[in-house]
Amino acid sequence: CGIVAYVGHREAAPLIIKGLKRLEYRGYDSAGIALLNGQGLKIYKKKGKVSELENEIKDKELSATIGIGHTRWATHGEPNDINAHPHYSNNGRFAIIHNGIIENYASIKQSLVNKGYTFQSQTDTEVLVNFIEDIQKNKNSSLEEAVRIALHEVVGAYAIVIIDAENPNQLIAARKGSPLVIGVGEEEYFFASDATPIIEYTKEVIYLDDYEIAIVKDNELTIKNLSNEDIDPYIQTVELEL
Ligand code: GLU
Repeated sequence: CGIVAYVGHREAAPLIIKGLKRLEYRGYDSAGIALLNGQGLKIYKKKGKVSELENEIKDKELSATIGIGHTRWATHGEPNDINAHPHYSNNGRFAIIHNGIIENYASIKQSLVNKGYTFQSQTDTEVLVNFIEDIQKNKNSSLEEAVRIALHEVVGAYAIVIIDAENPNQLIAARKGSPLVIGVGEEEYFFASDATPIIEYTKEVIYLDDYEIAIVKDNELTIKNLSNEDIDPYIQTVELEL
């Protein structure tokens, strides 16, 4: 339901928690956060309010300048801690947050189960991140290419953000049918379902279009379509009052 992600030079965790609170008006049943630093990828998630997640993580070592956060409105799988986002892929390398519904998740899940994949949750989202992992491994491709190939196969609606434990300076986002806004700062980027979590940091935003993938790598933002063609981003200035 709500997405907040960050890559840059600030502490990601407090920024993401604050952003998730700004999106609370959209409604949700659980919340979670994934952070990436020198110690690898860590995920914390909790049924209930963002403040409960905040309470859960307050004594944890959360230092990281890249992270993804989510408030979930369950469509596949009851609201509980395990079904909350982010979701890991089987090898622990990728973490995803997702708004929307992957309509053909059941057939993709079955083919992954046949290959030995296991699933912690009942969500369509966990299927997507493992589908991406499987493509990445089979083709020995970049994450970007694996995401692009996976999204060609997916039926449904999504806004997604993915991080990769092996590439801590990279974040990949994409959308079809669910909104995703990118805030462009000074050597930092903000991703959210709407501009409200972003505008206190930057007024320069890009509204990602359907079938577009945004890649931040080593502080550079590139936007491509699903045919791997570069898109010239249209940067707008938002005048929203908090
Ligand atoms: N379909 C996903 C789930 O049930 C995402 C729901 C959402 O948009 O929050 O976990």
